[in-house]
Amino acid sequence: MGSVSLEGATGPFNKVLKINIDKRLTFHAERENMSWRLAKSLVRLRDQVNLAAPNRSKVSDGSIGDQAHAARVSDHNPNAQGVVCAIDVTHDPIHGVDGKIFSRWLISDKRVKYVIFAGEIWKARTGKWEVYTGPNKHNHHVHVSVKAENGDEAQDWTGIGG
Ligand SMILES: [Zn+2]
Repeated sequence: MGSVSLEGATGPFNKVLKINIDKRLTFHAERENMSWRLAKSLVRLRDQVNLAAPNRSKVSDGSIGDQAHAARVSDHNPNAQGVVCAIDVTHDPIHGVDGKIFSRWLISDKRVKYVIFAGEIWKARTGKWEVYTGPNKHNHHVHVSVKAENGDEAQDWTGIGG
């Protein structure tokens, strides 16, 4: 945005404009300086997936939110403690990560908050798969969100509850 000088600005319109610019600058500064880390359960999960499928594609992988995510609430954005509670794992069945199988394997773990894949979402709150109506169907990656309260539990993911 560069330097914006409103010195000498007068009138109610200019006052509002200045407040808005201050807010935006503060927002950007906070995001750029923010330190963050991935929830420990997701670090463990990613390591396990990489070990099990060393040649898997990572083209649709992700952890921290991009600029588009930053403007809205997403588990890809750091929470108040600076912890990111979601990752995306690329669907690559040829190299060992089949999104359908992987997404069904994940949900037995008590750390999971919700999982999205191929137009379906599973929520811990309801305990079932439902149609996902968000703008991105998640055909190319599995989205995994963990709960803030136990997302830092770093034990192995076993696919048989936990
Ligand atoms: Zn995601």
